[in-house]
Formats: sequence, C-alpha cells, structure tokens
Amino acid sequence: MTATPGRPPLNRRLTEFGSTIFAEMSALAVRTGALNLGQGFPDTDGPESVREAAVRALRDGRGNQYPPGPGVPELRLAVTEHQRRFRGLDLDPDTEVLVTAGATEAIAASMLALLEPGDEVIAFEPFYDSYAASIAMAGATRVPLTLHAPDFRPDLDALRDAVTPRTRLLLLNSPHNPTGMVLTRAEATALAELAVAHDLLVVTDEVYEHLVFEGEHVPLASLPGMRDRTVSISSSGKTFSYTGWKVGWVTGCPELVAAVRTAKQYLTFVSAGPFQYAIAEALRLPDAYFHDFREGLRAKRDLLADGLAEAGLAVHRPQGTYFVTADISPLGEKDGVAFCLALPERCGVVAVPTAVFYDDPSAGRSLIRFAFCKRDEVLREAVRRLKGLTG
Ligand SMILES: *Cc1c(COP(=O)(O)O)cnc(C)c1O
Repeated sequence: MTATPGRPPLNRRLTEFGSTIFAEMSALAVRTGALNLGQGFPDTDGPESVREAAVRALRDGRGNQYPPGPGVPELRLAVTEHQRRFRGLDLDPDTEVLVTAGATEAIAASMLALLEPGDEVIAFEPFYDSYAASIAMAGATRVPLTLHAPDFRPDLDALRDAVTPRTRLLLLNSPHNPTGMVLTRAEATALAELAVAHDLLVVTDEVYEHLVFEGEHVPLASLPGMRDRTVSISSSGKTFSYTGWKVGWVTGCPELVAAVRTAKQYLTFVSAGPFQYAIAEALRLPDAYFHDFREGLRAKRDLLADGLAEAGLAVHRPQGTYFVTADISPLGEKDGVAFCLALPERCGVVAVPTAVFYDDPSAGRSLIRFAFCKRDEVLREAVRRLKGLTG
C-alpha cells in the first residue's frame, strides 16, 4: 500500500508525535561518543539470581510458548504478595492482576479501554512521553496540571478548576518522571477526595515505587473510596534494572482489570514468557534488596546533584526516581532545547530538555533532565566534563 497522494500517511491523532526525544538524543550520544545521561536505563544489569531465573525458565521450557493472557500464575501471585508486603493491599491473583508488556502497554491499554473519544484526562505536566500519545490514540484530550519549579508540587486549586463535566480520568505518576516529585500523603488524599467527589477513574503509574528517597510512597488505591476506581500500574524494569525485559502489571478491582485486559489482548496478547517467571522470583527478593537498591540510587542522586551544583547549575534535588532536574539559567543559558542539542559537542554529555515534556514550553524552558542510574565513574566523568562549561 502506498500513501494517498496529498494526504500524509500518519493519522491526525498522531501527527504531533514524531520520533521520541530519547531516540533523537541517544542517536546524538552514539554519533558524538558522549556520555548518555539522557535516557533512563541503568548501565549495569540487575540481580544475577534474577537473570539466572530467566535462563532456567528458558531451559526448562517455561514460557517459551504463549503464556496465559492475564500472565503466568506464578507472577500474578508474586505481584499480590508484593502488594501485601509493601502496600498492605489484598488482591486476588486471578481477577485483580494483569501482566503487561511493561508499564507502557499498561498505560496504553488503560487509555484505550477506559476512554471515549472526547473524554478529558487530567495529568501532571511535564508528562512522561507516552501519556500524551496514549491519550491521543484513545481519541481523548489531555488537560495538563502544570508542576512548576522549584518544588513541582501539584496545585490542587488549579486541579479543581481543571475538572469539567467531560473529565473522565486522572492519570497520576508518583514518584514523578521527570521532576522527581513524590506526592505527600496529604496531596494523595486530596487527589483521592477529588476523584471520589467527581466520580473520576484514576490510573496511577507507580514504576518508581521503590525509588523514594524523601517521604513515602502512598498507593492511591489504598486511600478511602479508591479501590474500585483505581488502576495501579507498575513494572519490573526500573525496580530490578532489567528494562529490556518489559514485564509490567496492572492491579485493580476485577471490573477495571477486565476492561484493561480487553484492550491489552489485542495489543500484544502476551509477552516475555520466560521473563515472567524470573520476575516472579525477583518480587520475592528479601527486603534488603529493595533497601539496598534505593540507598544505592540515593548515593548516585547525591553524587550527580552535588556535581551539577559544583558545575554551576541550579539543581532541583529529586525526592524519588532516576532523574535530577537542573536549571541552566545560572550558566547564562535560557533555552534547554538548544543547550541539550549543543551539549554533546560542547562537553560530551547528553541530557534531555524538560521543555519537551510540557505543552506549555515556557514552563520548562531553562530546565534539563539528567539520569543518574549509571555507574559512579560515568557520573563522575560527566560532572568533570560539565565543569568544563564554566572553565
Ligand atoms: C520508564 C517508565 C515507564 C515505562 O515502563 P516500562 O515498564 O519500561 O514500559 C512508564 N512510566 C514512567 C513514568 C517511566 O519512567
């Protein structure tokens, strides 16, 4: 099939979504040989025992053929055990858990399943990049709730004003990528109360649930009135440093999980068979794993944040996630996009301009994002190079 003359092949819902900024910046990193602190993936693999569990599953022929649609029973059970151990939530592994191809598919399937064309979705801006595209693919409209520097706290009055009769769903993310904001219990409670008052669904992306450095992770589903209106999404990629395996999951009441499953079964149907068994083992790792993982990343956060400050940037130290946001204004720079495009040539480092995650480009114009889920020597070398900016 060829494109119709006079009509571009990409449909109108998707024309604003070209290739993602990560692909562009990673290509720039490869071309220039720069250190890539742009995309959020670790440069070392996760626990050896988890990798060995995957090898064993492959060799034993577990998951080499289509696994069950909702996910392998071992993993669904492990997800419920994890939710009980860390979140105090009791879930039925047969009806309240769905395994997905990463959190990305869980988000897309949730939007496709729960939205009608014309529905409005309120989400924190800056957005994780797949949110806007998933909302658009469902034919719905995104309504930003802008998080402003320096604290990136959600403005609950602005949120109340943003709710209209067309609002169907809140798409929340805490710990928040890219800002590192972690909702407080009071903020999460206020968001939950608003969802109940306006009878909204809530989809909550909790992929950084084990990377909270300050405060606590408050699962929205645990708050009063939320259990039956919340789709909770998480993933093994960030927590176990195997982002290439793409094992994620959805939890929620049976009706919501069944709805998301309906869309999901026609996206990938199933994925990552042997890896599902390995992640079932990963979720059962002792508390010490999760503690050491968090503390290791906290040390990396501090290494990079301190170094960026020494290099003359204004650092917004994150409360959670893999990312630190910095303001380039103290360097006499204004435009993060131009700065990041020039940075690999100037000093051999890749960062991502936060402006690309905002609908309102002025809001994040001088902010840039660095990933610190990298080896200490890489972070130290990046800081050394960035110090060269000021001579
Ligand atoms: C990385 C990330 C995802 C994607 O997770 P996968 O499991 O790799 O699909 C989703 N949401 C946020 C906020 C992320 O940072």
